[in-house]
Amino acid sequence: MQSIEKLKFLTESQVRSIAQQFGTPVFVYSRERIEKSCDTALAFPNAYGLTVRYAMKANPNRTILEIMKRKGIQIDASSEYEARRALHYGFNPSEIMLTSQELAKGIKELVEKGVTFNACSLRQLEAFGNLFPGKEISIRFNPGLGSGHTKKTDVGGNTSSFGIWHEEISKVKEIVKKYDLKVFKVHTHIGSGSDPAVWKIVAQVSLDIAAQFPECRILNLGGGFKVGRMEDEKTTDLQVIGKPVIELFQEFAKKNGTKLHMEIEPGSFLMVNNGVILTAVDDIVSTGNKGYTFLKVDAGMDVNTRPALYAAKHPFVIVPKEGTHSGKTAEYVIVGHCCESGDLFTQAEGGGPITITTGEAKLGDYVVVEGAGAYCSSMSVKNYNSFPETAEVLVGLDDSFQLIRKRQNLEQIFQNEVSVSL
Ligand SMILES: *Cc1c(COP(=O)(O)O)cnc(C)c1O
Repeated sequence: MQSIEKLKFLTESQVRSIAQQFGTPVFVYSRERIEKSCDTALAFPNAYGLTVRYAMKANPNRTILEIMKRKGIQIDASSEYEARRALHYGFNPSEIMLTSQELAKGIKELVEKGVTFNACSLRQLEAFGNLFPGKEISIRFNPGLGSGHTKKTDVGGNTSSFGIWHEEISKVKEIVKKYDLKVFKVHTHIGSGSDPAVWKIVAQVSLDIAAQFPECRILNLGGGFKVGRMEDEKTTDLQVIGKPVIELFQEFAKKNGTKLHMEIEPGSFLMVNNGVILTAVDDIVSTGNKGYTFLKVDAGMDVNTRPALYAAKHPFVIVPKEGTHSGKTAEYVIVGHCCESGDLFTQAEGGGPITITTGEAKLGDYVVVEGAGAYCSSMSVKNYNSFPETAEVLVGLDDSFQLIRKRQNLEQIFQNEVSVSL
């Protein structure tokens, strides 16, 4: 039987206070937990030094980036806009690496500032060479195998367009030679939710690629450390997956004479279980004996798109609006507030409702969506049904609540629209 989920860091009384003070829906993050996750990542086993980059696409809120920065964590930016955002929040250009699917239109300016460019395709490599002959460059390879917790988050192997296909290394060498580029870093990232065994193999394959570039002194092994959201899911132990990789780096140094610096780029690992969405039950409807009981909450795919996109699972915890919970359980389909049949928080793979067992809920009770610190606020289908962007609150080290993003207002939703005469 599925286990009833519990609150991971908030108390019931904090849930009520935050809901009353800031309204629902609202994202809530824990500074203490984010800092702990940073410490765990910074303790990743390594042979000759480590840089941790935060994959800021997971959650680019300014305050969260500032917490990471104080911890000495650097940035993995997935678009030039993310790179500019990190610059704006006070990161040095040298602390930012740009790994983007689309060739940054502003590549020249960003690289001149000192942002590290990570070429993700032959075209990107060629474009960089053209602009910056003789310069140092990082290159992302697709090592030919991948591992993600769903097919949709798998970004290695021949079904993925991310990085230069490992068999094209001779073409890479031609371009590198043509422009006299210095490949100082090799990068691989095979997807979110990686299997530890696959991670070790990818580390070896990545080292073999690095060995082909004599100027390489850094190996970036990407992110993708699996984080369990649900009670019965496991979180990767970084000490366990990191240890065997130390030896691989030492063997590399013996063979090739270079003590490679290691980089990792966690996104999920730093944030997933350190944030929740606090929602309230807006309605409860039923479709009869052979149907379902639907719990409608005041948030939807405009707040968290993951269930619709991946059939992603989140724990749901019912917190009574008043008093203590009866202890009774019930089976629900949890539904979002958007007018869209796919807006189901409890969703089967391929679509359609599935039920979960939670504590029994009444109208107005709170539903805490756990495991919502990463890829929720950043990835949501903002403004669908003209719902405003959700507010975000940080629980401070002294348990105070700080608003770190205001709820959007209607003015802001239509501010870029242009009124024309018809
Ligand atoms: C998204 C991404 C990451 C982070 O992945 P997680 O699964 O969140 O750890 C790291 N590196 C690159 C290049 C990415 O695109």
